[in-house]
Amino acid sequence: MRRELLMRWQANETTVAAIEDGRLVELYVEREFDCRVVGNIYKGVVKNILPGMQAAFVDIGLEKNAFLYVDDAWAGMAGQEQILAETPIQSLLKEGQELMVQITKEPVGSKGARITAQITLPGRYLVLMPTVNHGAVSRRIQNPAERQRLQALAEELRPENMGLIVRTVGEGISREELIQDQKQLLLVWEGIKSRFEQCGAKGLIYKDLGLRQRILRDVFSSDINRLMVNSRALYNEVQEYLDMMEPQLKRKVFVCNIEELFDKYSIEQEMAIALDRKVWLKNGSYLIIDRTEALTVIDVNTGKYVGSTDLTDTILRTNMEAAREIARQLRIRNIGGIIIIDFIDMEVEPHKQKVLDLLAAELSKDKVPTHVLGITALGLVEITRKKVRQSLDSTLETLCPQCAGKGRIPLKN
Ligand SMILES: [Zn+2]
Repeated sequence: MRRELLMRWQANETTVAAIEDGRLVELYVEREFDCRVVGNIYKGVVKNILPGMQAAFVDIGLEKNAFLYVDDAWAGMAGQEQILAETPIQSLLKEGQELMVQITKEPVGSKGARITAQITLPGRYLVLMPTVNHGAVSRRIQNPAERQRLQALAEELRPENMGLIVRTVGEGISREELIQDQKQLLLVWEGIKSRFEQCGAKGLIYKDLGLRQRILRDVFSSDINRLMVNSRALYNEVQEYLDMMEPQLKRKVFVCNIEELFDKYSIEQEMAIALDRKVWLKNGSYLIIDRTEALTVIDVNTGKYVGSTDLTDTILRTNMEAAREIARQLRIRNIGGIIIIDFIDMEVEPHKQKVLDLLAAELSKDKVPTHVLGITALGLVEITRKKVRQSLDSTLETLCPQCAGKGRIPLKN
């Protein structure tokens, strides 16, 4: 299978499209309001200490001094967390002291950014926490045996006097892959430390790239043939990141006319379809996709398809076509949780199996774990898809204030 990623960065918006064999299969959009700074790491200088508030203001080179609360102020003294947590701020910090800090809350209005001295570096499967002294596993991984395996690995792989957390996506990931991730995180951490030492007075030493970084970290891997970007600036940013994380992927990145590629793969039209309830299939049949609080319901409709004289054959073809498109729409829309599909009723038992097999095969192309659980007594197909990040509609849409999501408003008489 040929896999390509198209990455467009313009006017505070990043759009990434994943193409498989010429068709869009995944879509990621991030809009940056102002310029995000959360996650960035700075070298700062303590400006004033406020013993009454148990806090300090730190100059990190932004317009407003950043706010550091005592609970977030200790760092690099692993094993002493408990003692330090009860230490007053004036004995932890001195005015004029240099400090490595990470932004946890964006500055708003007259308020400066909120910062912490406890650095966290998220990798593909792990999070490195250089200032704590324990290994842990994401609470969202529930299987007890898997938790035990990962807990042991977190302890084994964490560098001395540092913390390591296995992220939810680490579930089922091999020891070798976790080691690879741990090595990369340590390289990034070494880079940050040396920039802290070399950097003159204060300023940015590590930038969190948001969606672009998450894509490079979580999606761009050796099974992707090419990554196309829309500008030299983005190309340089990507190369700089890959230098640190995965240098062997650098040669797969190209600058190109991204609008041409967006046209070629009809990305804008696909995005409009992915936000619509109704999805037309090639043969005139269609899907209706409804999301509720608890689950997503997909209804397959024959519509105007009367192409064949053999009704059972028509139904089978429509359901097969629907299965392919449903698998694709789940990925593009990034729908997680429970999904119920109402295929057109099939009388022929082998036909049901054929559709289920195709659905499972199509879903297996998805990196997000999915399971086809089978057919219920009423003939509905149940699927689960792991919830990873936000769905496309929650990134791009907000609830209708008129009907508050009900989709119906009172009739006027
Ligand atoms: Zn409405």
